[in-house]
This record gives sequence, structure tokens and C-alpha cells, in this order.
Amino acid sequence: GNVIGVFTSGGDAQGMNAAVRAIVRVGMFLGCKVYYIKEGYQGMVEGKDDIVLATWESTSNTIHMGGTMIGSARCMEFKERPGRLKAAKNLVQLGITNLIAIGGDGSLTGANLFRQEWPGLLRELVDTNQITSDKLVTSSRLNIVGLVGSIDNDFCGTDMTIGVDSALHRILESVDEIMTTAVSHKRAFVVEIMGRMCGYLPLVAGISSEASMVFIPEDPPEGDWRQGLCDHIRESSKSDARRTQIILVAEGAIDRSGNSIKCSDVQRVLTERLNMDVKVTVLGHVQRGGKASAFDRIIGTRMGTEAVMALMDAGPDTPACAICLDGIDIIRTPLMKAVEMTKMVGYKMNELNFEEVVKLRGRS
Ligand code: ADP
Repeated sequence: GNVIGVFTSGGDAQGMNAAVRAIVRVGMFLGCKVYYIKEGYQGMVEGKDDIVLATWESTSNTIHMGGTMIGSARCMEFKERPGRLKAAKNLVQLGITNLIAIGGDGSLTGANLFRQEWPGLLRELVDTNQITSDKLVTSSRLNIVGLVGSIDNDFCGTDMTIGVDSALHRILESVDEIMTTAVSHKRAFVVEIMGRMCGYLPLVAGISSEASMVFIPEDPPEGDWRQGLCDHIRESSKSDARRTQIILVAEGAIDRSGNSIKCSDVQRVLTERLNMDVKVTVLGHVQRGGKASAFDRIIGTRMGTEAVMALMDAGPDTPACAICLDGIDIIRTPLMKAVEMTKMVGYKMNELNFEEVVKLRGRS
């Protein structure tokens, strides 16, 4: 049967466990052996206790948990060829010829590079007597499938990444909680939303909370944003019913010149110009915590299932694919094209307008 290795890499996200669980169970159901590669690429490079055979029971009681039960890490060694050579040896020794990578664009770039280098890595291992030459035949190909686990929703080709919906829940819970104290004290709150150069979370959180304003990287404010902010908040504060102002600022928020807009900038402007009482809250890693939402459990499960199916379908010339959400459908899309587009949108954020970014990233 086929031997699959699954690992989570880069930033953790709620719903990764649901994906891992589906991969293990669907894989076993189809007669595959599934290995956990713990701590991402670090475990792949180190091997030994970090690569362990998954059992059906080992995935019990995990679907609701946030984070990743098999650990995640950044790994500098894997970025260099000698690190990847060690990783290849560890996989070959266990007969792992199928990999499912769950991570962000960095992790998926690494996976694709690894696959491209695979025949060369194998030959080098044989030439240096680290593996026997029969492995050139039995492990000739490395199939790769990527799942996007990230709370940012910044990956091109998928409408939603695994974790983003749970992160939205965390943000809304926090903003609702801040509201009660804000209203009591007639204070304004500026809330920083984690999400790198993606404004999806602040934008959608803004729509579904009492936020008065949202700053996102994809749509920097026109003209003098400080003036615009003051005009809007002054106008909005005229109503007696409105006892607070909540302003959401994306981690990557910028002005039209590309200079970052920080929560402290917003706080200073409102304090100095409007004489308001303003507090700052940075949600940070709270967004990545807590339980996985129903949506993330479901897309994690569906994407994990599709990933195993894609591996089973892979032929000698099938390019690596990423499993994506397209509307309500789970689809396969060429991995490298999606990764390259994601990088391009990141570099060119200043040059693209809001509609272009949304179109490139997916419907959400
Ligand atoms: P994310 O997957 O969330 O984008 P990173 O960019 O930190 O997170 O990538 C996670 C890990 O993937 C890195 O620590 C490294 O081991 C591996 N990786 C990232 N980019 C590459 C690359 N270009 N080549 C090889 N490995 C990479």
C-alpha cells in the first residue's frame, strides 16, 4: 500500500487537527500507512522519534481542539540542501513517498522545492552509501499535496484557509467583550487584528461587529487619513446613543504612500485632535487560540479527505496540487501557481487596487 507522511508547518491554525484526523482515517480506510511527521520540517530533518506511525485512536478527541497536536515549527535547516538531504533519507527509510503539507505559503514553497529536488537527493544518498540503490526504484517519486492552514486568509486560489473562520470568532468575542467596558466608560478602543498583509479578518470582523472604522492594507484610505478619521469619528460621535467608537486596524495597514498605520498612531490622533479617551488592544495570538469552529472542522475534514484522494490519483506527471475551497466546492489547484500568485500579491500590494486583490486571492 501507499505510505503517507503528514505534517503541519509554519503558524498553527484551528482546524489543522480536523485535517490531520481526516488524512489519517481516510488514508487507513484506503489501506495506506500514515506517519505523523512531528514539529513540521524540523521533525522531518531530525527523524527518529519525530516520525511515528499514526493509529486510528491517536486522532480521537482532537477534532475540536485548536492548534496542531503534531506540533509545528519553523526550520532553518530545511531551507538549505543538506537539511533536505537528511529529510529525504528519513522518508526513504520509512518508505514514505507521499507527503501532505499543512501550512502557509512558505511551507508549501518548501514542499514543492523538495519534490523538484527529490531524484537528485536520492541519487546523492545512494552515491554516499546512505541508502541502497533499490530505493531509486521503490521511492522514485515523491507526491506532494498542500493544504492551506493559516488564520490570515491571504492564500491565492482558495476562498477560505483552514483557521480563518475560528480566528474570526475569536475576534468577535473579543470585540464584543471590549464593547461592554468601552460603552461603560465612553471610551474609544483601537484594536489591532493579526493577519499579516491581509485585511480579510478586520474587514469581515468590522461588518459583523460595532466597529466604526477599519484600516486594511488592500484599500488604504484616500487623502489625509488622520483628517478622514477625525471627520468620521466626530460625525459618528454626535449621536447620544453612541457611547463608544471601535476602530479595527489590520496588522499590515498602510496609507497611500505605503507607510504603516499603527494603533498607536490612531490613538494619538484621536487623543490629541478630538480629546478622546482612547485605549489600544492588540489581539495577537488570542486569534489563533481556542476551539475550531464548525466551519473549520468541516473544511479541515473535507480538505484532508480530498488530499488523500489526490495522492491516490497522482501519476508520474501530476504536478503538486493545493486543496482549495472554491465557493462551496473543494478543488485541486496547481500548487506552485497558487504559491507564486500569493507571493506576487504580497509584493505588489501597493500597486493593486482592492478589487484586483480580492479577485486574485479568491472570492472571500
Ligand atoms: P508559513 O508556512 O506559515 O508561510 P514560513 O514561511 O515560516 O511559514 O515557513 C515554514 C517553514 O517552511 C520554514 O521554517 C522552512 O522550514 C520551510 N520553508 C519556507 N520557505 C522555504 C523555502 N523557500 N525552501 C525550503 N523550505 C522553506
